[in-house]
Amino acid sequence: MNINKNYLNLEESYLFSTVGKKVAEYIKQNPDKKIIKLGIGDVTLPLCKTVIDAMKKATEEMGKQETFRGYGPEQGYDFLRTAVQKYYKKNQVDLKLDEIFISDGAKSDLGNILDILGVENTVMVQDPVYPVYVDTNIMAGRKIVYSDCTETNGFLSMPDENIKADIIYLCSPNNPTGAVYSKEQLKKWVDYAIKNNSLILYDAAYEAFISDTKLPKSIYEIDGAKTCAIEFCSLSKTAGFTGTRCGYTIVPETLEFDNVKLNKLWIRRQTTKYNGVPYIVQRGAEAVFTQEGQAEIRKNIDYYKENAKIITDTLDKLGIWYTGGKNSPYIWLKCPNNMNSWEFFDFLLNRVQIVGTPGSGFGKNGEGYFRLTSFGSRENTLEAMERFMGLRKDIS
Ligand code: PLP
Repeated sequence: MNINKNYLNLEESYLFSTVGKKVAEYIKQNPDKKIIKLGIGDVTLPLCKTVIDAMKKATEEMGKQETFRGYGPEQGYDFLRTAVQKYYKKNQVDLKLDEIFISDGAKSDLGNILDILGVENTVMVQDPVYPVYVDTNIMAGRKIVYSDCTETNGFLSMPDENIKADIIYLCSPNNPTGAVYSKEQLKKWVDYAIKNNSLILYDAAYEAFISDTKLPKSIYEIDGAKTCAIEFCSLSKTAGFTGTRCGYTIVPETLEFDNVKLNKLWIRRQTTKYNGVPYIVQRGAEAVFTQEGQAEIRKNIDYYKENAKIITDTLDKLGIWYTGGKNSPYIWLKCPNNMNSWEFFDFLLNRVQIVGTPGSGFGKNGEGYFRLTSFGSRENTLEAMERFMGLRKDIS
């Protein structure tokens, strides 16, 4: 018996454990100080009422003989797929029901999709990057190339004909940088993919934070994308489902490589290895797409977006360069005074007891940058920014 030795090539991520250790040490030394965490990548507001009501009703159904349900369709119930289809239609994207796959979240499908793609493919990820794209490909033994996101390109890299890749990951709005591609920029990626016979894996987990109507919420708003892209989406940040687990993946029927439809392969993979999302959760997810559900989740998203604005207003006043925060829950700022990411982490912790995430943990281009998030409470965000302003003399 041999293990999958590719796992030995994975790098240990010390990012969040080091953050945790440093914070714990600081609290030990300074027990009277109040720490404010603005590094949180998880939602903090509860599920909305319409979702809870739908899940209660579904739970009742499961307890009655006449309405009990066992295994459901692996691709998800039609009631939820239809709700997703209508949601896309709002952005002028027409999808067939068979192109919509309900999942237990974007992370699983981002990893699982690799089952149907050859290991000999070269993969392109952006740097800085959401680490899941890198690690899932290392596990499979694929070669990875990096596309540099820097201050010069606004942390939105564009295709380079000198760097060839078969599989391209794009994440917009981006984690960690909060940067969002315009339609014109995405069109260039779609054109590159079509020309080079590449597949784009498009992560739209934060699309609900886009309020600028000119920005694309789905890659299928771009002509040609249905022949070169799979899209992953999630209710985690959209509707607070991080602990409830539901998302959806779009595999267009027009997506064909080696004369094989990827949609067919994905159905085969899912029906073999997956038994679907719980009925109760799918009813909760369906409720997200109702008129009441949309109004309620919008309130929560607006709350986070207002937090983001409080943060970006402060950075504007201090003259600190950043991306994100406008159409994204993430704010990616340039560390002042040429500090590196960990120096700035220590500086904020020691001086004003604010905790964020060092950008260097997301790749080499993250060095010298820092991620703040808007998922904290209003009270804490306001207090943190007041403390930040107190540093004015030291960081401007
Ligand atoms: N994609 C990105 C870019 C994320 O930041 C996250 C979660 O933080 C996910 C996917 C995972 O989403 P899910 O909770 O649906 O698995």
